[in-house]
Amino acid sequence: MKLSLVVPCFNEEESIPLFYQAVQEAFVGCGYDYEIVFVDDGSKDRTLSVLRQIYTAQKCPVKVVSFSRNFGKEAALFAGMKHACGDYISLIDADLQQHPSIVRNMVQILDEDTTCDIVAAYQDRRNEGKVLSFFKKAFYSLINKLSDVTLKSDASDFRTFRRKVAESIISLNEYHRFSKGIFAWVGFNTQFIPYTAAKRAAGKTKWHFGKLFNYAVDGIIGYSIKPLRVATFLSGITACAALIYLIMVVLEKLITGIDIPGYATIIVLILFLGSMQLFCIGIIGEYVGRTFEQSKQRPIYLEKEYLTYE
Ligand code: UDP
Ligand code: MG
Repeated sequence: MKLSLVVPCFNEEESIPLFYQAVQEAFVGCGYDYEIVFVDDGSKDRTLSVLRQIYTAQKCPVKVVSFSRNFGKEAALFAGMKHACGDYISLIDADLQQHPSIVRNMVQILDEDTTCDIVAAYQDRRNEGKVLSFFKKAFYSLINKLSDVTLKSDASDFRTFRRKVAESIISLNEYHRFSKGIFAWVGFNTQFIPYTAAKRAAGKTKWHFGKLFNYAVDGIIGYSIKPLRVATFLSGITACAALIYLIMVVLEKLITGIDIPGYATIIVLILFLGSMQLFCIGIIGEYVGRTFEQSKQRPIYLEKEYLTYE
C-alpha cells in the first residue's frame, strides 16, 4: 500500500460523503493504491453509520476505527496512524477545508525528493476572525520562547510523511498529545508548502475558545518546564521589593520621626504575596496533574468497533 489517508471524524455525518467523493475524484488515475482510515471519535450523530455504508460500498480500501467515546482529535490521529499500513501517511480533516488533491502534490514531492520525510501544509491566508488570529499569534510566540522545540506558526496537522515518521510518533505514548509539538520534537526533514483553507463543506467547527485555550496550555506545559521557574523569578522580585520597602520605612522614621501606619501595607502585601503563591501552586498543579494522568498509564483511546478490508 502506497498511501494511507488518516481522517479524524467527530460529528461529520454531512461532510464524510462529500469528502469520500472528493478523494475518489482527486486520486483518479494516480497510478498507486491508497486506503482511507476513518476514525470516528465517539460521534453523537450518524457518522458511524455513514462510515459503515462507505465501508460496505468498497469503492476503495477503507478502514473504520470507532472510539467508545470522544477522546479528541489528537487521539483519533494516533489511532489512525496505528492502523494505517501505507508507505506514506497523510493526516487530513473530514470537512474538506483541506482538499485531497493537495495530498497528491505532497506524495509527488516525497517521491521526487528522497531526502524529504515530511511535507507539511501551512495556511498562507487565514479565514478567521481578528481576535482568534491575535491569540494564535500570541500563543506561537509564547510557546517558541518557552519551549525547546520551535513550532512554525500556521502549520497545521495537515501533512504527509514517510512510514518511519509515523512509527516515531506512535512510539511517543504521552497521554496529553499536542501534535504540533510532537512533530517539532521528532524532527525529520520537513518541507512546508502553502495552502488556502477552504470553508467547511458542512457542519460546524468543534473548536471553541475554551477548547483552544486548553490545547494551548497542553502545548506549553507539555513542551517546556520554564513556567515552573516563574516561582523562582517572582520570589526574587518580591524579595527585592520587600528590601526596598524596608529601607524606605526605616529612612522615613529616621528622617521624619513619624510612625507609618502599617495595616494598609500589610493587607496589600498579604494579597499580593497570596496571589503570587496561588499562581505558582497553579502552575505546579498543572505539571503534577499531567504526571498523575500519565502515571496511570491509561490507553490514549478505546476502540468500540474496527472494520478492515485486510
Ligand atoms: N475532530 C475530532 N475530534 C474532536 C474534534 C474534531 O476527530 O474532538 C475532527 C473533526 O471531525 C475534523 C478535524 O478533527 O475532521 C478538524 O476539526 P474542525 O474542522 O472542527 O477544526 P477546525 O478546522 O475548525 O480547526
Ligand atoms: Mg475544519
